[in-house]
Amino acid sequence: MKYIHKSTLHIHKYKNTYIMPSFTSPLTDEVFCRPVVYKPILVDGVYRDTFVNLNFRDGLKCPCMATGQKVWQNLSGFRTHTKCAKHQGWLMELNRNAADIYSRYVELQELADQRAQINTRLENELAVYKLRCEMLERHIHDIQSLTQNLPSMMTIDE
Ligand SMILES: [Zn+2]
Repeated sequence: MKYIHKSTLHIHKYKNTYIMPSFTSPLTDEVFCRPVVYKPILVDGVYRDTFVNLNFRDGLKCPCMATGQKVWQNLSGFRTHTKCAKHQGWLMELNRNAADIYSRYVELQELADQRAQINTRLENELAVYKLRCEMLERHIHDIQSLTQNLPSMMTIDE
């Protein structure tokens, strides 16, 4: 079976000519040219290699290699790589540390929840302070208009 990546489906057809999508702006170059970093899937607490939904459009890097190393351009090449000793060793090491990674994940999740609660409390406090500020501004405005009108109110009848 021939592997066809879904990005090839985005090719436009204009006047019976196929036009490849262009990514020429500096921003899109930056975004589209960076290789994707491969992530194994976690099944029943065990990390396993997956070949589903891999994106080779900008290349695929594997974390088992040092940074700046090989970038895979197609599924068959990457599939072969996952059978090598280095990749298998990396996956085993990942599974050895899976429990630690999971407990770290739980810790970070708790931290995120605490931060969210603090954010909510601070947002509520801010809303209260804004309300108080508006009330004080209205008082100041009332006092200012009273003091402006004061001399005319204090005219003495002779
Ligand atoms: Zn690898």
